[in-house]
Amino acid sequence: MRAVVFERYGREPEVREVPDPVAPEHGVVVRVGATGLCRSDWHGWMGHDPDITLPHVPGHELAGVVEAVGAGVANWRPGDRVTVPFVCACGRCAACAAGHQQVCERQTQPGFTHWGSFAEYVALEHADVNLVSVPEELSFATAAGLGCRFATAFRAVVAQGRLTAGEWVAVHGCGGVGLSAVMIAVACGARVVAVDISPRALDLARKFGAAECVDATGLGGADGTADRVRELTGGGAHLSLDALGSPATCVASVQSLRRRGRHVQVGLLPSAAGDPVVPMGRVIGEELEILGSHGMAAHAYGPMLEMVRSGALRPDMLVTSVIPLDAAPAALSAMGTGPGAGVTIIEPGRAA
Ligand SMILES: [Zn+2]
Ligand SMILES: [Zn+2]
Repeated sequence: MRAVVFERYGREPEVREVPDPVAPEHGVVVRVGATGLCRSDWHGWMGHDPDITLPHVPGHELAGVVEAVGAGVANWRPGDRVTVPFVCACGRCAACAAGHQQVCERQTQPGFTHWGSFAEYVALEHADVNLVSVPEELSFATAAGLGCRFATAFRAVVAQGRLTAGEWVAVHGCGGVGLSAVMIAVACGARVVAVDISPRALDLARKFGAAECVDATGLGGADGTADRVRELTGGGAHLSLDALGSPATCVASVQSLRRRGRHVQVGLLPSAAGDPVVPMGRVIGEELEILGSHGMAAHAYGPMLEMVRSGALRPDMLVTSVIPLDAAPAALSAMGTGPGAGVTIIEPGRAA
């Protein structure tokens, strides 16, 4: 099969022939219909992820058709249209037994713990635990983004963030995951303040229903940005998300909260940037909550897919470009210049 391969961190990957994957006993091989380009892929390529061994094929946001099924799989057949959460759970550890497959103790992640979906085919472990059926009316390009940014944003806003209608939500960082969070929060009846340093990202946030947009450029860092959010929200957001993942946006998000507000960390914090200095004094004095969101278990997809099916959520509107596999290496390396606005989808079956 053809795949995007890199041999060294930070050096431009190439598209070349590699052996086809084989279905694990409890897993499947999926023919990739579409796969999203995500900032996590860029971090992996830069060498920021200790799970990766070289040579490597990135890609963890995928949808496609089951091609081959392992002997131990009960519920899936070749030809099924499927997607997966980026965390593929084992189904047997204590976290999985409690229904929290998104923090499985023995999780695998395509594109990190093994070769991913920037390829014609990808192997996925424990299919009965992890596969999600993709309805016919949902394109692979739209479904591909659900497993990482969209599901993570959905869980951050709805489950971890416990958002209720009428609340103020601040979203710090309006790349793919941030724009997903804006759309989901608006659909839940919240008022959204979108924060970014890119006018184009803020334009998209406004298009997806953000009531207020804050350009953090020139506001004097985390404190100045948070002051502006508190001013616009009459004292602070009820819920605030760091959807970028940096010490500055994390602190700005926590500082944006009103009393008893909830911060949800959505963007991954690469260790190279150091841990954020969270103002724990305020966390105590104002009873703030600090939470994380790490994807979403396959069994929890139902309500999200229903909102997509009904048109209340439009993940298709996040897709700003669709490219063939041959264009993926350049697109991956270009991510270093910033999170960008909107979502790029790679279709391995698409002609160059
Ligand atoms: Zn991702
Ligand atoms: Zn597990």
